[in-house]
Amino acid sequence: MRLLPLLTSVALCGCFPERVSTTVEGRKVLTFQHEFTNVHAVVHDGKVVLVDSGHERNVPKLEADLVAEGLSPRDVVAVVVTHGHADHAGGARHFQQTYGAKVIAGRGDTTLFTEGRNDPLCPTNADARDRLAKDQAETYQPLVPDVLVDGAASLEALVGVPGEVLSVPGHTEGSLVVKVERSLFVGDLLRGAVFTRDADVHFYMCDLEDNANDVRGLLASQPDVTTWFVGHFGPLTRAAVEAKFAEPTRR
Ligand SMILES: [Zn+2]
Repeated sequence: MRLLPLLTSVALCGCFPERVSTTVEGRKVLTFQHEFTNVHAVVHDGKVVLVDSGHERNVPKLEADLVAEGLSPRDVVAVVVTHGHADHAGGARHFQQTYGAKVIAGRGDTTLFTEGRNDPLCPTNADARDRLAKDQAETYQPLVPDVLVDGAASLEALVGVPGEVLSVPGHTEGSLVVKVERSLFVGDLLRGAVFTRDADVHFYMCDLEDNANDVRGLLASQPDVTTWFVGHFGPLTRAAVEAKFAEPTRR
């Protein structure tokens, strides 16, 4: 069964709730899911940092999610956009323009933000090939990030919320990951499996070997991280990520 009818059927069954709360070593992380794309929220001292922002068309749903969790969209002090694809970057402009949230994004994706479009996508399986034309054509209103990260940046210094932003180019030139205590938010570096808690290769990735090396590099450099929050499905345990990516790719 191909992904599109499969996703339609799971949407109807309610298998993927729109709001999920995960607690990692005492730190609550909220995940809001629309069109199988995650937006994560870290709340600290009344401030909300969003990691990714979903499609622009889903902003009203995202705002309703925040309110349903007892938060206000006005509490959003920053949106860290893990990369410039429309399903991650599309909602950020609204929070910047309406509430003054700081948009933090990777310098390598500047052209994508300026033009509000996706770069050429490389499908990794038959389902992605089926969806390619639709996903490739997704756009959003151009976005001017407040902070362009090229290397590393401190969330604490930028907005007073503990955390670190790191450049991990690969899925796109400007892809970022965010570390908050024992949690790592990795955008589309990898994804969760559709029906299990396993890790899987993302639907779109141009260099699979480089991608596996990046994942292994993070497993090695972030040994204290227990939970990987991904852009689609998940979250994943460290063991799940290791099981899929720890061994060098066999040809
Ligand atoms: Zn992406």
